[in-house]
Amino acid sequence: MTAIRQTRATCCYCGVGCGVIIESDGTQVLGVKGDPEHPANYGRLCTKGSTLHLSASPVLQQQARALHPELRLERSDTRTPASWDVTLDFMAKKFANTIREHGPDSIGFYISGQLLTEDYYVFNKLAKGLVGTNNIDTNSRLCMSSAVAGYKQTLGADAPPACYEDIALTEVVFIVGSNTAYAHPILYRRLEMARRANPKLKVIVADPRKTDTAREADLFLPILPGTDVALFNGMLHICLWEDLVDMAYIDAHTEGFAALKQTVRDYTPAYVADICGIREQDLVEAARLFGKSRASLSLYCQGLNQSASGTAKNAALINLHLATAQIGKPGAGPFSLTGQPNAMGGREVGGMANLLSAHRDLANPEHRAEVARLWGIDDVPAKPGKTAVEMFEAVRAGEIKILWIACTNPAQSMPEQKLIREALRKAELVIVQDAYKTTASVDYADILLPATTWSEKEGTVTNSERRITRIKAALDKPGEALHDWEIAIRFARKLEALLDKPRTLFPYETTEEIWNEHRESTRGRDLDITGLSYRILEEKGPQQWPFPEGANSGKKRLYEDGLFPTANGKARFVNTIYQPVAEPVDVRYPFRLTTGRLRDQWHGMSRTGTVAQLFAHQSEPSVVMSALDMERRSIRNGDLVHVTSRRGSQILPAISSDEIRPGQAFIGMHWGEEYVSGRGANGDGSYGVNAVTLPAIDPYSKQPELKHAAVKILKADLP
Ligand code: SF4
Repeated sequence: MTAIRQTRATCCYCGVGCGVIIESDGTQVLGVKGDPEHPANYGRLCTKGSTLHLSASPVLQQQARALHPELRLERSDTRTPASWDVTLDFMAKKFANTIREHGPDSIGFYISGQLLTEDYYVFNKLAKGLVGTNNIDTNSRLCMSSAVAGYKQTLGADAPPACYEDIALTEVVFIVGSNTAYAHPILYRRLEMARRANPKLKVIVADPRKTDTAREADLFLPILPGTDVALFNGMLHICLWEDLVDMAYIDAHTEGFAALKQTVRDYTPAYVADICGIREQDLVEAARLFGKSRASLSLYCQGLNQSASGTAKNAALINLHLATAQIGKPGAGPFSLTGQPNAMGGREVGGMANLLSAHRDLANPEHRAEVARLWGIDDVPAKPGKTAVEMFEAVRAGEIKILWIACTNPAQSMPEQKLIREALRKAELVIVQDAYKTTASVDYADILLPATTWSEKEGTVTNSERRITRIKAALDKPGEALHDWEIAIRFARKLEALLDKPRTLFPYETTEEIWNEHRESTRGRDLDITGLSYRILEEKGPQQWPFPEGANSGKKRLYEDGLFPTANGKARFVNTIYQPVAEPVDVRYPFRLTTGRLRDQWHGMSRTGTVAQLFAHQSEPSVVMSALDMERRSIRNGDLVHVTSRRGSQILPAISSDEIRPGQAFIGMHWGEEYVSGRGANGDGSYGVNAVTLPAIDPYSKQPELKHAAVKILKADLP
């Protein structure tokens, strides 16, 4: 009888980062359970986490997994299986020739917050250290970049100051732009437990939709989409009037308050209530609850981030915390929740177009020199790389000739799909590195590189509360699949030879060697982890950063001493001004469309879409509308409707719900072409909700406004 092995890892879905124990016989995953010792979840798992083993069944693996490299030499041919050596040799020659002919910026890498930290580190070094381009960005750009920019502009560093434990210690939880009950379920369980333990704990939710999270709130503010800055400025206005700001804290630990104070004078309750579409008395009550409480904790996510003014939204909320001194103490702080399992790890290694290792900035010459020294290269290129939306525009314009996509599916997840697909068709070479061959992006791949996935990988991830977990592999690599970092390194060594570069940049044989180099890059930085090692993570369990050399533990919460990582140690108020959404509604496109996650699906459903149980909550895509709007248009529940924006259209069943106010609509983000094409939908080369979303981006974070588009909704006249 084969012995059952138990392996510690984390759930590969959301940024809560729950610990799991994988039960396997070495060839397949037999079961999964919550890790009772993991501080993120103490054994609890949500519906997605508890069905992870079902997504890894051998039958599904056979159907969906990419198990062998595939290559097509001419665009018109189909891909055929090829050996790793042939495939990587072909790629390296193509890269070398393209770099010589068009320069390093003719190459782009589009990677993912699903990758482990070690994978991310190697890809970043490959792009910036070997190829010589900063054209490396990630799907975290669609997810967290406004949170990064908001933290940096105000607090001086990309570091969430609070921790999960704060939920049990707070008096007021302000949830904004987050359906936590669906998107971060196990964190929401903590909140439910905290409310049971402390009936005086108040929960305020601000959201355009009356989500399940909002239904449970003590106070619900159904703000109009995109009006968050007005809401936060209005709350600060009330706090000023009612003497709820902490001038001693402001004077000692911040700067820039005078200008903001001047600005928020105009955000009177009547003005803000009108902009946000809420009642004045609810706004006042929210401000009083937030400002008067001993400790107020904000939890926020894509509702703030996925916006053309996402950075201002983040900064305006942090302003409110700084002005009321609701930061740096137990139970308080602006706590941005990460969407993906390792969005935080990607930020740590600087795996984005504007960042460098250990939270360094590409725009800073000293930071570039430090990284060049660490890597033993002459310099890191200064020219900013293309961020996600910009990168696909550059591919479409022919500036980027080769695009390497790893562990993500832009042909479904990027806004204005028509243009993304046009870019993928135009590129000279598209490489897709993925565990699954079923994603829409694979259809555009000239080269398919099979990668390992959850239960097969090892390395580290960092969750929303800065906690690093060591992950071990339960299974061997299937077929000819390789780990993501291995693929990048094997390729890099071949490219080094062709470019006549010394073969010194990628000496690693294990993930530990990669992680140790990453660790050294953090020395003296805000996220210093020089006191950690793989051994400590295995012996002591997951640890939070910072954890510098000599420390016995990481830091639960940051800025308790009132010192911020800015030049003068003071946090900075940002003078935030409300800007309307990028595409306002009008007579032709009168509905405000918002998008978001459903409870039991994850991203483009490559994994959750293989688990029957996860369709029990919602079995097919739909557009959620108010009963009033449906009645006015003679639409009955379940009728098919065209949802059309200036960019594209899709056909979906309409579902009536009181979660949506008249004039608004909601579509879940998960379904792609395979689920809508059967209806003969679209017909314009675009699929799913991103057929209609727009690529307007925030000027600082470059995050696209996936949360709002103006659409019209008309009953479908089908034969
Ligand atoms: Fe996985 Fe997130 Fe659910 Fe935890 S809360 S089990 S990390 S999906």
